[in-house]
Amino acid sequence: MEILIITGPPYSGKGTQCKILKDELGYNHISTGDRCRIEKENRTEIGNMFSEYEKKGDLVPDSIIKELFGKILDENLLGKGIVLDGYPRTIAQVDSLIELIILKELKIKKVLNIELPTEELLKRAKNRALSSNREDDKDAYIHQKRIEVFEENTKPCIEYMKSKFDFVSFNGMGSINEITERIKSYL
Ligand code: ADP
Repeated sequence: MEILIITGPPYSGKGTQCKILKDELGYNHISTGDRCRIEKENRTEIGNMFSEYEKKGDLVPDSIIKELFGKILDENLLGKGIVLDGYPRTIAQVDSLIELIILKELKIKKVLNIELPTEELLKRAKNRALSSNREDDKDAYIHQKRIEVFEENTKPCIEYMKSKFDFVSFNGMGSINEITERIKSYL
């Protein structure tokens, strides 16, 4: 079973593109963020913990995400492939993923890295806040914080993935369709 990783900063459109790719390629879609929000709605132990990090714009600790991701992966092992959205976000998560790939005999087909200037990310964050119910969308302070967390934790993780997997970076400016076409041209 093959895996596509869609990575990039918060507000870059990863979720939007993953949902389209899921339908077009017939892949399963794993979003650790979506799953955290479902856990929160269901008031599970993980969901309650997530709530605290979400409010601050922080990442959930690796140990919690490791357990959660292992569970979601097991639920998605049937099918053609998986598109990963918002995971991995730290170097430790890449290492956990590599362990799982070996264990479950999976293959990382490609990492697609969406690049956008911070100014554009903040603009999109503001727009998303108008229509979403997400706690971490509500506040401009959280938008800024999430971008800082990205710079500190996820940028090094992306650099690390460059050395481990087949990797391509591309410009995330343009319409949703244009970005989908761009992604498809790399597959
Ligand atoms: P976006 O789509 O805006 O990039 P997500 O919905 O993927 O955001 O993630 C929202 C939040 O969920 C993150 O800020 C973090 O608190 C938590 N989260 C999601 N995925 C991970 C992960 N892989 N590691 C740690 N925290 C995560």
